[in-house]
Amino acid sequence: MSETATSNASQVPAIEGWFTLDQNPHLIGAQCTACGTYVFPPREGACPSPSCDSDELTATPFSRFGTVWSYAENRYAPPLPYRAAEPFEPYALVAVQLEKEGLIVLGQAPKGILAKDLKVGMRMQLETDVLYREDGVDYMIYVWAPAVQDEVVGGAK
Ligand SMILES: [Zn+2]
Repeated sequence: MSETATSNASQVPAIEGWFTLDQNPHLIGAQCTACGTYVFPPREGACPSPSCDSDELTATPFSRFGTVWSYAENRYAPPLPYRAAEPFEPYALVAVQLEKEGLIVLGQAPKGILAKDLKVGMRMQLETDVLYREDGVDYMIYVWAPAVQDEVVGGAK
């Protein structure tokens, strides 16, 4: 194989149906049509709320923003369906509480963001990053990146 330019590799989600791959990517979750309970990852079937009899969940876009609830640094290759790039590089795992839904969603931080760069309560936004590349195709995952601050510029540290 003799590939030269790989910058315009096509992008596909590494996990189908969990997030969008547009300019402002967001998670796709599910919501109970009866009581409004949110579910992530998205699925069909019965509402997880014990006080609700509904068996109808519909796919719904979630907010892009949330705050750090907890985080950890992973120094070992994760299990499937996460497939790590070779050679394996440590990365941070972040549990983010979604601003609107209140649900806590676990995700990786972008490459280069490690535990030392994170703080509980920090505002985060959903982005996408290349998990691995195969045959000219970039397999994408969603990541939690520190939210872009529009007021504090190059300031507080
Ligand atoms: Zn319900």
